[in-house]
Amino acid sequence: MAAGLAAAGYTDYHTHVARCRHATGTADDIVRAAQEAGLEAVGISDHLPLLPHPDPHLAMEPEDLSDYVAEVTALKTLAPGYVLLGIEADYFPGRQADIAALLNSQPFDYVIGSVHYLDGWGFDNPANLAGFEGRDIDDIYRAYYETVGDAAETGLFTIIGHLDLVKKFGHRPAGDLSLDVDRLMQRLSRSQVLVEINTAGLRRPVGEIYPQLEVLIKAREAGLGITFGSDAHHPSEVGRDFALAGGLALSAGYTSRAVLRPRAGLGRADISYVGLQR
Ligand code: ZN
Ligand code: FE
Ligand code: FE
Ligand code: ZN
Repeated sequence: MAAGLAAAGYTDYHTHVARCRHATGTADDIVRAAQEAGLEAVGISDHLPLLPHPDPHLAMEPEDLSDYVAEVTALKTLAPGYVLLGIEADYFPGRQADIAALLNSQPFDYVIGSVHYLDGWGFDNPANLAGFEGRDIDDIYRAYYETVGDAAETGLFTIIGHLDLVKKFGHRPAGDLSLDVDRLMQRLSRSQVLVEINTAGLRRPVGEIYPQLEVLIKAREAGLGITFGSDAHHPSEVGRDFALAGGLALSAGYTSRAVLRPRAGLGRADISYVGLQR
């Protein structure tokens, strides 16, 4: 069986295009890759222009945003119901109003909210790896989870991206952070966000899906819905390792996944749930 067909029946809600300047391919390439992989639908979710750290290699330029929206909207028209217009937005404490203004300026079907910065430190960027040195890893985890909870509580985001991204380079907490994770799940649950099972971690030094099983079990216990995302930065990564991701979800006790249906006009997608295939 072709590797891609293992993604049959899923939807990949987390994909990037060349506009962010560190991914390859157009939205059209992503949609074609999704169809070849047998995906049920696909969401394009490139990086929203970064605030307050504009960097041409981390996100699209602000002036590219409307072109991005037009590009994906044209594909939505060509393949109604198959393509969704998403965006991955960084959460920066204190910049909520600016992020909201950008998000509300376009008819996104859904928004992935991601924390890639702690106090201005881009901790998931290999160029900033030295930032882990001399810091208490448990403290970094606590600060990360706290910031993710803050992000969810803004109400700006449909899905929280790569829920334990802080493990990307293999740093593990020494102590037991289960109470911190419990508290985070309560905050996410109250905020009614979805959490993402993101397979990109398999392609990173940590070598495992975000989030890890123990965290995903707590998400399920808190009643949080799940989506699947490859975080593809190349069309060949669309739907990658979704069979593994589905297996992880089943192991965590999930029996369904969230489906986002684009609305005809303005406004965010409707959320419904379908059974997970075994
Ligand atoms: Zn990226
Ligand atoms: Fe991200
Ligand atoms: Fe991403
Ligand atoms: Zn991401």
